[in-house]
Amino acid sequence: LRYLGIDVGGTYARAAVVSAEGEILASCKTALAARDPSGVIDAICLAADEALGASGPVVGAGVGIAGQLEGESGVVAVAPNLGWRAVPFGSLLGARLGRPVRVVNDLSAAAWGEFRAGAGRGTRDIFVVFVGSGVGSAIVAGGRIVTGAQGFAGEFGHVKVEPGGRPCGCGERGCVEAYVGGHNLLAQMQELLSSERPTQLRELVEQPGAILSPALLETAALAGDQSAKEIYDRAVAHLGLAVANQVTVLNPARLIIGGGVLSRCPGMRQSIRDAVGTWSSVVSRRQLVIAEAELGDDSGIIGAALLAAEAPAA
Ligand SMILES: [Zn+2]
Repeated sequence: LRYLGIDVGGTYARAAVVSAEGEILASCKTALAARDPSGVIDAICLAADEALGASGPVVGAGVGIAGQLEGESGVVAVAPNLGWRAVPFGSLLGARLGRPVRVVNDLSAAAWGEFRAGAGRGTRDIFVVFVGSGVGSAIVAGGRIVTGAQGFAGEFGHVKVEPGGRPCGCGERGCVEAYVGGHNLLAQMQELLSSERPTQLRELVEQPGAILSPALLETAALAGDQSAKEIYDRAVAHLGLAVANQVTVLNPARLIIGGGVLSRCPGMRQSIRDAVGTWSSVVSRRQLVIAEAELGDDSGIIGAALLAAEAPAA
């Protein structure tokens, strides 16, 4: 059996035909000419036609999208990257593709991909943390994605780590994402660079080919730059303690860590391992395996396809 997986980013739509084992058999990526629902659906249909043409028919379809969904209705309540509000995306896309489409959150899709075909294979209970421009997570417990009553379970990026602390993109303050999300690490580096404080970052960022990035912050901090180290140490301390506490609460078989920032910052990955080993309750971590995400950018599209094969939670 084969399934169609669809991944909608802020600038592209990608479609892939995926086997029941989670292998990508054909895929195609199309740039979004417009971000309104019909423009996005046009781009999806182009990509889907090409992927299906290369590999033959499928028995189900799933789409992962960054945003808040109204349960399993297929309605996208809010998708900030696309500027959508209350869009009946599932029914619109299903009508164009001529088949029902399951609409899921992009992080749930990525976690499901890792669960079924990546670093979570063979387990029933995982906690997945992705640190990229934002901080996201998903929980699989007893073999099912935990959604919560309104679909907002797993909003780990907005766990509070400093009451009244730095402002976060969600409108609140002191969230873990406000310290360690890629956008917020860059903002803290910019604040440092525009201050009077001494920092090696000024020289590092002027070297040929260098760009201001979380990896550059890690390099400066680990080389002993005091100003960079303050930002970095606070970020990794907040992240590590918050992850360790989730391990205590959830007792997962595997903790899976990934995302653009963690994949480029080995020191941050190690700091999570150290924090979990120190701060999680001993019973919760005794048999825990900490693994790095294996599927990279493919996790979401594989997960969206394989979620089409699952019955939605009752
Ligand atoms: Zn927040």
